[in-house]
Amino acid sequence: MNSAPLIELKNATKVYSLGDEQVHALRGVSLAIEEGDFVAIMGASGSGKSTLMHILGLLDVPDSGSYQLHGRELSSCTEDELARIRNEEYGFVFQQFNLLSRTTARENTALPLLYSLNGVDNARVEELLNQVGLGNRMGHNPNELSGGQQQRVAIARALTTRPRIIFADEPTGNLDSSSAHEIMTLLKNLNAQGITIILVTHERDIADYARRVLHMRDGAIHTEEQRDTSPLAKLPPRTDSELARDARSTWRHNLRAFGTYFRLAGRALWSHKLRAFLSMLGILIGVASVIAMLGIGAGAKEAIRTQFASLGSNLLILRPGARQSGAVRTQAGQVSRLTLDDARAIERAIPDIEYISATVSLRAQAVARGLNWNTEISGVEPSSEKIRALQPTAGRFITEHDIQTRARVAVVGRTIVRELFNGQNPIGEQIRINRVIFQIIGVLPEKGASTWRDRDDVIVVPLSTAMHRLAGVDYVDSIEIQVGNAQRVSATQDAVLALMRKRLRLSPSAPDTVSIHNMAEMLSALTETSRTMSVLLSGIAAISLIVGGIGIMNIMLVSVTERVREIGVRKAVGARRRDILGQFLVEAIAVSLTGGLFGLLLGGGAALAMSHFAGWAVVVTPQAIAMAVGFSALTGLVFGLWPARKAALLNPIDALRYE
Ligand code: ADP
Ligand code: MG
Repeated sequence: MNSAPLIELKNATKVYSLGDEQVHALRGVSLAIEEGDFVAIMGASGSGKSTLMHILGLLDVPDSGSYQLHGRELSSCTEDELARIRNEEYGFVFQQFNLLSRTTARENTALPLLYSLNGVDNARVEELLNQVGLGNRMGHNPNELSGGQQQRVAIARALTTRPRIIFADEPTGNLDSSSAHEIMTLLKNLNAQGITIILVTHERDIADYARRVLHMRDGAIHTEEQRDTSPLAKLPPRTDSELARDARSTWRHNLRAFGTYFRLAGRALWSHKLRAFLSMLGILIGVASVIAMLGIGAGAKEAIRTQFASLGSNLLILRPGARQSGAVRTQAGQVSRLTLDDARAIERAIPDIEYISATVSLRAQAVARGLNWNTEISGVEPSSEKIRALQPTAGRFITEHDIQTRARVAVVGRTIVRELFNGQNPIGEQIRINRVIFQIIGVLPEKGASTWRDRDDVIVVPLSTAMHRLAGVDYVDSIEIQVGNAQRVSATQDAVLALMRKRLRLSPSAPDTVSIHNMAEMLSALTETSRTMSVLLSGIAAISLIVGGIGIMNIMLVSVTERVREIGVRKAVGARRRDILGQFLVEAIAVSLTGGLFGLLLGGGAALAMSHFAGWAVVVTPQAIAMAVGFSALTGLVFGLWPARKAALLNPIDALRYE
């Protein structure tokens, strides 16, 4: 059996510096306290009672001196080791009660258990509250309890982890005398069970409850009186199973702690809903705009891709004029017109061509059934049916015979059917285009809208009719060529250009006056545009996340400052640094993550709405969602770290004293 006193303090000093003034709060105090004793520390205000008590309670460290618990020196312990001792061996009762506000008596009592290896034990909490006479007040918050009742909750809290010592600093200082004596009777009874009590008071009748009274003056113990010499009651020693802590229970404890942080964060956010919402706005807007833009961008890209896919990747388009790079003409070269003869010459000379069609297009007014509609007229050759995938859903397409006879026949798109024929079958009906009467012979398949135009708003007529009866020209606007073999696309492209240069009699050094494009090039130009867009969006996202993060950092600093006393209480009952760090970090992440999730909903909604109006498929990809969630959580982590660290590094006693 250990013969060392329970606590032995030797030569403890504590000096506070106030500017250039030095306050010697403790001037070499030595003191031994036996297990089971009831010690009252008395003295005038400012004599150092509280300072001594905080050092004895491991809430503060002396500047010099030694502290032994059960003969074990504690002066080299880390803060977390001290927190563990406070949690398991010590209980605290303060003059200001120091209960957590907006938290029930039950939860206040259970607080030390949150930080203990054993976890919360509701039966124990209820038993203790019954023991202090508050069995019918367990669900009440501190502001619904009298001072005496609050102090009883504090005593119940001090007892939850079955400590061996209770420290009480002026526990009756804020109470009327009848409550004061009730509280002292409670403490006296606890002492009779073997719990060591160390009490600070400046009232004689309160000190009279103790067995031993120390009088302090000027930071030193001045006199001492032994009032009761009856044998000390002793708690049974801790059982081996209580002392044995395997790695598993620590692991479980950490997991449980994490759950606790989440609950605390949820409650902190809920109790400041508006503030939390405002502080997450930055993240919300950032994530929403990025999700919306990504959704719209991806939707547009998808629409472009399907549009090109329907044209076929083996398509080459020959146009008058030099090549353009992006929207900017790189050289102001000459422009050569294309003719039907060019198309025939290319068809004859170049072997890999599967289909070729010269086209002319113009805008014109179409009139049918007394209705007017301005639309695109496309003059094509029969092979266009294959090149542009225009197989009519009803009726027939343009034939060679129509071309030769310059037939006034038309194949109409869906939009025309809708706008001029009320959606009814128009085949056989007449339509006037620029005052020329055409007969409708077919309906085009539905193509859907593209980024820049409605591709169903078109009337297809024979090329010869379009050239000579509508546009009045003898040249064509473009020549569309479908290459039979995908491998031959670029060779064919070169061959066509070479042939055209020869036909146009361009000298070798002269710039091109016609240009030929393949679909891959056009697609990559569009992809380039959307890549630029993505870079821009990433910029917006980064900036808004930083701004949002700063907002969160700001609100977390406010939150930490508001709750310094709460942090002090948590540390006093055994919260380690990492518990406080975790609590505030999880809170910051919860704010930013909630903002991110709201942003996801808002942005997804916006993308949905816009894609609905534009007629695209909605594309909010899982990657975009993962990115939004990941980045918002990361923002909370990065910007919450500093405030949380600030909270975690607070000294317990400074935090408890904070006003
Ligand atoms: P008591 O509890 O006996 O009234 P304290 O232990 O609180 O006395 O204080 C002892 C002395 O130390 C007082 O002179 C007080 O002003 C000073 N003191 C206590 N805490 C601090 C502090 N945090 N900073 C500066 N001086 C302090
Ligand atoms: Mg004091």
